[in-house]
Order: sequence, then structure tokens, then C-alpha cells
Amino acid sequence: MIVVASRNGRVGILAAVEVLRAGGSAVDAVEAGIRLVEDNPEEHSVGLGGLPNILGDVELDASIMRGSDRMAGAVGCLRGYRHPISVARQVMERLPHVLLVGAGAERFAAEIGADRGELLTEEARRMWAEKQALLPPEAAANLQDGADLAPWVAYLTDPVRSRGTVNFLAQDARGEICCGVSTSGWFNKYPGRLGDSPLIGAGGYADNRYGAAACTGLGEMAIRAGTARSLVLYMKMGMSVQEAGQQTMRDLDELGGNYLSDMNIIALDAQGTPAGFTNESEGKFIYMRAEMSEPQEVERTFTATRRRWAETL
Ligand code: ASP
Repeated sequence: MIVVASRNGRVGILAAVEVLRAGGSAVDAVEAGIRLVEDNPEEHSVGLGGLPNILGDVELDASIMRGSDRMAGAVGCLRGYRHPISVARQVMERLPHVLLVGAGAERFAAEIGADRGELLTEEARRMWAEKQALLPPEAAANLQDGADLAPWVAYLTDPVRSRGTVNFLAQDARGEICCGVSTSGWFNKYPGRLGDSPLIGAGGYADNRYGAAACTGLGEMAIRAGTARSLVLYMKMGMSVQEAGQQTMRDLDELGGNYLSDMNIIALDAQGTPAGFTNESEGKFIYMRAEMSEPQEVERTFTATRRRWAETL
């Protein structure tokens, strides 16, 4: 039994392991761990305290996938609900669908009695206001009234400092593997933008036979390369989790286009071996087995990938 998470999952990993120790499922463990990260106002990339889109609205994305039958649920652009991971789980359990977004996701969240809440904290509002102050005053004043947003999204978005996500992978006593992802996405994103986190195969993927993977970083890259699914598929084709992760990073390096930036992946094979990958100069992930008293922090394997941001092709 093991739980693997991105480093910001520290506040939830013990609770997730407790679920496994008590005989709970990998799905219960992932949900329990991520809920605590979603509740943490100091984590500005997830749930409460998450940074808003360019209009100042917090839009949350999340997904969950069960590895035994590859059932999955996800929500995108969810506003006003504290636990997108729980709403995603209910999409998986109650609907014939995988992904709900926007008004439909909110209607479903209300229908299942999900916890409502104001997600924009004072701190996050202040950070948003600081960025708005960089806009020409006329542009800032007109944003809410239907002015063009696209030039200002590119202007305000910083490919390195605007982002974050939480990833959890768990394997329970029965060998069930689950992966979960939750995020507020890119700071100052265009309203309605979905990243990789709610997209099964991009931000997360789980298959009990081979393992699981989940991503943080520039979601657009993981969407374009099918990153989480690729890593699991490479394991299916016979690679070790280490080889599969490095091959997946090389796939990202081969992407073209003009928006290439950071990517981090955590992975787990069917034998319970954890691994982490990054193209940043440093980066760690955490894991905790049921018999451990605290999480272990591990350096991610580094693979260099090319970087490019907007203007230089
Ligand atoms: N992957 C997330 C997204 O693109 C953000 C991140 O992890 O940095 O929304």
C-alpha cells in the first residue's frame, strides 16, 4: 500500500495513508488526501486560495480515475464549490459521463449537495490586483465589459510562476490503483480555459495492470502529448517506470509550437514502485507506504526539454 503525491500534497498524504491502513480503497485515499490540499488556503494553485482567471474568478478543474475498470470522472471550470475532486468522483459514480464543465458541473455539484464556498481569499485577491495594476488603466477598466482579453492573458501570464496543481496516486491492499488531480489552473488564464488536470489521459491516468501517472506543469503540453496515458502505455509496452517516464519527457521535448515550459510527472507501477520526473532544474515528489511513519521526499529524475514562450519561434 502506497500513496505518491506532488510535494504540495504533504498536508494530505497522511490522511490518505490512514484511509489505506483502515482498509479503505485507493479512491477513498486519493479523495481524502486531495480534499485537505483543496482546503489549504496557503496553496495558491488548488481549491480555496487558488489564483483566479484574468477576470478575478476562481475556476477549478479536477479528475479522478480508478485503475481496475478505467472508470473516471472530472469537472472543469467549476466555480463556488470547495472540493472539485469530490464532485469529479461523483461524476464517475453517478453519471454515464466522464467530464462536466461550467454551469453543468455547478448544477450537478448543487444536485449532490457538494460544499459551497467562496474560493477567492484576500491574499489571492491581492495577488490578482497586483497583476491587474500592470495593465494600462484603460484596459484594466474595460476587461469586465467585454473588451478583448487575449492580448492581456498573454501579457499577464508567466510560464513559470503562474501555476501549480496537486497530484495523488494510491495503491490499496487489493491492488486497486487510483489517480487524482486538482487545480485552479493558470493564474490569469482566459475564462473557460481547461488545462490537463480534468482531461483523462493528459493530466492523469490509472490502469491497475501497469500503473498510473499524473502531471503538474504547462497543461497545454500534457494535453498535446497525451502525457499521463503515454507513460502508462510505455509501461504496458514493457518499459520500467523510470524508462517510461523519461521517454514521456522526451516526447514533450519533441513538441513544436511556441508555448513550451515546465512539466512534472509522478508515476507508480503495478508493483508499487514510485517515480517522479521533471524538466525543471530541481523538483521533488513525496511518497508514503503504509508501514512508514512519515512521507519520504525524493528528487525527481531530470530530463531537459526545450523551452519557448510566445514570441520566439
Ligand atoms: N497543469 C496545470 C494546468 O495547466 C497547472 C500546473 O500544474 O502548473 O492547469
